[in-house]
Amino acid sequence: MKVKVVSRILEANDRIAEENRKKFKEAGVFVANLMGAPGAGKTTLLEKTIKELKPHLKIGVIEGDIVGSDDAERIGALDIPVVQINTGGACHLDANMINSVLDDLPLKDLDMVIIENVGNLVCPAEFKVGEDIKMMVLSIAEGHDKPLKYPLMFQESSALVLNKIDLLPHMMNVDMNKIRNDSRALNPKLQVFEVSCATGQGIDAWAQWLNGLRSQ
Ligand code: MG
Ligand code: ZN
Repeated sequence: MKVKVVSRILEANDRIAEENRKKFKEAGVFVANLMGAPGAGKTTLLEKTIKELKPHLKIGVIEGDIVGSDDAERIGALDIPVVQINTGGACHLDANMINSVLDDLPLKDLDMVIIENVGNLVCPAEFKVGEDIKMMVLSIAEGHDKPLKYPLMFQESSALVLNKIDLLPHMMNVDMNKIRNDSRALNPKLQVFEVSCATGQGIDAWAQWLNGLRSQ
C-alpha cells in the first residue's frame, strides 16, 4: 500500500516537472539540478562556477533550503538573479516548488538556471523538477563509502564533482580510487571532476564542461 502512495506522488510530480521543462525549453534555458549532502560545498562550488562562467553566459539560481536565506544572499552578492525556496521542513525540492518560482526569474533573459537542492544524499535524486541534468557534489571528507550507500544519486547524476581535494593529504583513510571506481560502476556515463573550491584547482575544467552542455 505504501509503495502505491509513493508512486502516485512521483507520478503527480513528474507531470508538473514536464510543465516546468516546457517552460524552460520555451525560454531557451538549460537547467541543472545540483545535489549533495550538507557541507559538501554546493553553494561554494556555485559561487566559483558562476564567477568562472559569468563572462560567457547569463545564469540564474534557485536556492533550496529548509529555512533561511544565507545561500541566496551569497549568490545574490554575485549580482545575478536568484530566488529562494524554503521548503519548511521538506528535505528535497519537488517540481511544484520549482513551478511556484518560475515567474520570479527572468527566464527569457537567461542561458542557464542552476538549482541548488536541499542538502541531502537521498530523496533529491528521486524527484524530477524539469531539469536537463542532475549533478552532485561529494566532498572527499564524506568518505569513500558514499557511492555504494547512496547509489541512486550517483546513478541519476550526469556529473560528480569531488570537492575539497586540497584536504587529500590529511585524509589518510579516504580511498579516491574506490570513490571513482564505485561511482563509475554505478553509472558508466558519469563525468567525474576533482576540484578544490579553496584553491581553485579544477574549477576551470568543470565550468567549461558545464558551459559546453548548453549548446547540446
Ligand atoms: Mg548551500
Ligand atoms: Zn526529501
